[in-house]
Amino acid sequence: MKVELQNLTKIFPSRNKKSGEQVVAVNNFTFAIPDGKLVGLLGPSGCGKSTTLYMISGLQQPTAGKIFFGDEDVTELSPENRGIGLVFQNYALYPHMTVKQNILFPLQNLKGEDKMTKEEMLEAAYHAAKLVQIDELMDRKPSELSGGQQQRVAIARALVKMPRVLLLDEPLSNLDARLRLQTREEIRRIQKETGITTIFVTHDQEEAMSISDVIVVMKLGVVQQIGKPQSVYDDPKNLFVAKFLGTPPINVFDGRVEGGKLWLGEDCVLDVPGVEDKPVHVGIRPEGFVPVDDGALVCKLSNVEVMGRDVSIVSTHAASANPVVRSIVDADYNIKVGAESVAFALKPHKVFLFDKETEERIYFGNQKPSDNVEEN
Ligand code: ADP
Ligand code: MG
Repeated sequence: MKVELQNLTKIFPSRNKKSGEQVVAVNNFTFAIPDGKLVGLLGPSGCGKSTTLYMISGLQQPTAGKIFFGDEDVTELSPENRGIGLVFQNYALYPHMTVKQNILFPLQNLKGEDKMTKEEMLEAAYHAAKLVQIDELMDRKPSELSGGQQQRVAIARALVKMPRVLLLDEPLSNLDARLRLQTREEIRRIQKETGITTIFVTHDQEEAMSISDVIVVMKLGVVQQIGKPQSVYDDPKNLFVAKFLGTPPINVFDGRVEGGKLWLGEDCVLDVPGVEDKPVHVGIRPEGFVPVDDGALVCKLSNVEVMGRDVSIVSTHAASANPVVRSIVDADYNIKVGAESVAFALKPHKVFLFDKETEERIYFGNQKPSDNVEEN
């Protein structure tokens, strides 16, 4: 089911009448989520992810804008009639019911032609439980399950009606690191198996990048960029997106362009043809550094961390906006651990320039904006 958001906006009135400060939680969000895809809605806490999800679910009414499921305008439809499955961070299972009863619950209130026989309900419940691999645990109470198992029950309960759209709000946040990894792969598998259009909300960029077909990066209620995880990483539209994606994070420098050359402090590091003379923010991905003896960027070496396949070089530079510069290079480079400094050449496609005021991307040379909104 294709899900289309048209100028979706949510404004919360101020709680305090005197200050009059209203909150624009979601600001003019327009996007068509392709049928059968998993979309990761990503951004820092408070950026409007949950509010967007609740409007799609019908739990919250938009201040303006429309929501379509396929060709159907569902903006005014109640949550029960939208055909959605919702999963929250805190599982929200009924503690006094068994796993089976929890999963059956959404089926028991079906009315009219949707009404199911007892056998049909049981079959659907077992089918959903098998999908998330908890069909052996049907007679337990939630208190007798681990966090990961409880979240699987919640997912089974959301799937049991075979929803048109599956909505997951930070579903992994309460799990420990190992379970988080395992459950996210599980969610991806279930999504692929069922083909249900899924919206997955998280503040964790790695989580979103690893399982999404498409990510939507939000900041303060405003969509910053939409695209395939790799293309958003490779081609961030602004400094916020560049900084939000990537571990270790992108290195940011204060630079300036003079006569088509990029300067970081005293170092003239790169040709940036086509850019006018001005100060710029410079983002360099950790994998954008190549250690070479005559490299133009000279950093003071702090530490070399060998990580097997790669080597992480920690250094400092006067123009760096961060306390340290972190670069990741192939272990084949023989970095002298005791050396005073390390010199780098830069890979031009891993270097991004941003306007000092607007923080928007400035393209140079043969860099050009990729068409980021992708239908497939
Ligand atoms: P996220 O899920 O990305 O952390 P939310 O969608 O929960 O963000 O919140 C977005 C903004 O809207 C925040 O500033 C939050 O404080 C505000 N907000 C959310 N719900 C309400 C509400 N019911 N009343 C007033 N403000 C709200
Ligand atoms: Mg939230």
